[in-house]
Amino acid sequence: MAKKCDILYIHSGRNPKTSESTKYGVVPMGIISILNQIRDTGVNVIGINLALEFSIDPQFDLESVFKDIEYKILMTDLHWYEHSFGALYIVEQSKNFHPNIPTVIGGYTSTIYGNEIAENFPCVDYIVTGDSDLPMAMLTDYLLGRNDIKITSIPNLIRRQNDTIITSEEKWVQTTLEDLDCVRTDFFEHSEQLPFLCTGGGFRKSGAQWICVARGCLYNCAYCCGAKDNMNALFRRCNVIKRSPEKLAGDFYALAQKGIRVSPSHDFQMFGKDYYKELFARIRETGAKPGLYLECFQLPTKDFIDEISITFDNKNTILEISPISGNEQLRNENGKHFSNNDLYETVKYILAKKIYIQLYYTVNVVGETEAQFMDTYFQIKYLHLAFKLRDIFYQRIVLDPLAGMRKWDNFKSSYNTFMDYYNYCLIPQAEDDPHTGFDDGCAVPIEKKLKLYNSIFGK
Ligand code: SF4
Repeated sequence: MAKKCDILYIHSGRNPKTSESTKYGVVPMGIISILNQIRDTGVNVIGINLALEFSIDPQFDLESVFKDIEYKILMTDLHWYEHSFGALYIVEQSKNFHPNIPTVIGGYTSTIYGNEIAENFPCVDYIVTGDSDLPMAMLTDYLLGRNDIKITSIPNLIRRQNDTIITSEEKWVQTTLEDLDCVRTDFFEHSEQLPFLCTGGGFRKSGAQWICVARGCLYNCAYCCGAKDNMNALFRRCNVIKRSPEKLAGDFYALAQKGIRVSPSHDFQMFGKDYYKELFARIRETGAKPGLYLECFQLPTKDFIDEISITFDNKNTILEISPISGNEQLRNENGKHFSNNDLYETVKYILAKKIYIQLYYTVNVVGETEAQFMDTYFQIKYLHLAFKLRDIFYQRIVLDPLAGMRKWDNFKSSYNTFMDYYNYCLIPQAEDDPHTGFDDGCAVPIEKKLKLYNSIFGK
């Protein structure tokens, strides 16, 4: 008997048609909480994570999803630009099999490029932009014929009416995240395997799950779409909204009970000492000792590290720090504001607490001179030799659609439209991939840098 649901939600990997079908399987936290909120009103949802399905079975048949499941609405996320092709491919496939079933997309990328997507992809019926919690719930009601919702009353919506694209005049902005539930994922097929899915495909031994701490950021890293200055463009507001320590502690407890390490969306230190002290105290009160994967937005303080070490399972805790460059000026220009000496002191302190560290450097920092590259080379070498660190990553970045560095003098970008990102997703990724969407103007070629960095680790 065919499975039935009201909403079929599908998360795409990078490219469902190639071996990159297993890449980037992490489902955005936002859509999980939106779907949970809708489910709680009696709507039945089936979630398919294509990256997970292809990781379990490389022969997975996507067509069978559309043939074997009876659904009334097709929903997919277009949050990270890496899913630009995948998300649209899913929508196209759904329309091929079921031309009359409405298709809905939402997320950062579809917020930025909503009109262009609507113009180029007639298979997309509805694009929900900005904060989508309320608009997505209203649109679901409208499409299911519930609660007497009128299409014209739905905010943050781009839709097609015959050949005309209509953008709703009503704007809606989220003001509280208290009741978001991004913990329950039981509506996914093979949900028990979701926490074990690796970003690059395949599975890891221990589970991890992202939870929403806040929306927005107080920093302005030059390469980041989610930076403070972009908040108005994305959410039509200028503040950060965050969840209370009480609610967050509940999420930590729930995931710790399942042995799942928690990956918070935000660095708690950004919200001040009072905030993280209360949160960590509440987590300790639950009696749980969760694992933690924390991306530190700047450098963690000693007090913050002390608090982490007494709250979390240190053997299952990773602090990730992004110095970006060994050169302080370049680091500062790119949005990370700490000195090399402070970095070394912090690394020493974290290691003394027996907590794991990961460090991230950028291979293609804009305008890097040969001397600045050598600063990074010697820093990585020093950290490896002096502290025995192995988890030091040096990666190329791809240009974010709203990256602040686009405004820099003489900055040359080649990815400027949605179609640029869509076509980018059709190119298989490689370590020394030149497809980054911008001219980095670096004095030393990427291949040479990678060779030198690799030599530090005997690769
Ligand atoms: S990269 Fe920088 S701007 Fe972006 S979310 Fe992290 S701290 Fe904020």
